[in-house]
Amino acid sequence: MDTLQHSLSSVKVLDTIPFQVDRTVLRRNLRLKPGSHHLAELDRLIDQAEQIGKPKALVRMIYVDEKGENWVQLDGRRLYSRVLRVNLEEAQRAFVFVATAGVELDAWSKTLSDFLHRFWADALQEVALETARRAMHQYLVQRFHPGLLSEMHPGSLDDWPLSAQDDLFALLGDVKGSIGVSMTESKLMFPVKSVSGIAFPTQTHFTSCQLCPRENCRSRQAPFDAQLFESRYHLQL
Ligand code: SF4
Repeated sequence: MDTLQHSLSSVKVLDTIPFQVDRTVLRRNLRLKPGSHHLAELDRLIDQAEQIGKPKALVRMIYVDEKGENWVQLDGRRLYSRVLRVNLEEAQRAFVFVATAGVELDAWSKTLSDFLHRFWADALQEVALETARRAMHQYLVQRFHPGLLSEMHPGSLDDWPLSAQDDLFALLGDVKGSIGVSMTESKLMFPVKSVSGIAFPTQTHFTSCQLCPRENCRSRQAPFDAQLFESRYHLQL
């Protein structure tokens, strides 16, 4: 085994994740009431999506080599972010990952011409992405017993911009060949319903939303804490 193969041998491909939609939850999220004349149509689309959908994830456990003031080094590669550095203060290892709803559902959604159907297909891809993330998390818990895990995603904060995608993809090897996810020149991922990041063991749950002042974000997971940048990360907004 050559050095590159050996260093990537801890990469795990999860590509046989079962995809089953919780129909009650999806109907509620789509604000469809019991008795709605849309239900049969939605069920037909869900049946198709469950047959076609193949959510996937790629994850690699990496020991932390070194830490500086505003960087951490994983497998010889320096990732520059003060927030990541502080969040990994106690961590000896981290889990680099990409999870995706999959190219199959993306291609299927593009065959739909009806606007409402495309909207539902979008929601179904989000369910698939969440399925992939949950499966990856379950794998990490069973395999590594990491305790409480938090995540950071490149591009969520100015402190760790989207350009860091290059580092994550390099640390994971052949992401496209393994799970079909590619990166555009502007560092966005295709399929769009994909997420990349680093999961790390932590004592206190962290989400980038705590440091993000953006208003009216539908995906916000925690309130913005204006003091946290300075108090914990010794950074000023
Ligand atoms: S508040 Fe919204 S934009 Fe900001 S980090 Fe959270 S999800 Fe991302």
